[in-house]
Amino acid sequence: MDDLNQYQPFEVDQHLTAHGNYWAGRAGSRFYRALRDRRRILGSPCRNCRKVFWPPRSICTFCFSELREMVEIGPLGTVETFTLVTYAEPVHPRPAPFIYAVIRLDGADTGMAHFLDEVEYERVHVGMRVRPVFAPQRKGNILDILYFKPL
Ligand SMILES: [Zn+2]
Repeated sequence: MDDLNQYQPFEVDQHLTAHGNYWAGRAGSRFYRALRDRRRILGSPCRNCRKVFWPPRSICTFCFSELREMVEIGPLGTVETFTLVTYAEPVHPRPAPFIYAVIRLDGADTGMAHFLDEVEYERVHVGMRVRPVFAPQRKGNILDILYFKPL
């Protein structure tokens, strides 16, 4: 007979796959609609801090002000940092190898990671000027920007 007060943890090895939809939020909804419908990239400015966030957000990370305004930023930008991904991960939207770069769009004060293509890794450098390549058929997600490439 088992003693209910004495037990050992039992681990179940299980992999779950779940597809779902979620609301992108007020800022995210405006951002993705502009990207999908007009190929425009929006950021959210904080007038108090004089910072423009990309991707846009609803609350300033510095002063916690509510951010209701959106401004167009980019489309040109600058590589702030980068790396060569040489291994496959399920979360990567494409097979390796590829370059991830944090790109700060003109008019924004924050950067965002995205693919950098049409350049050899050895030629990539901090400060490289880049532009987005938009998907011909956009779906309302960040891959509506297929990748960035050097000017
Ligand atoms: Zn602020």
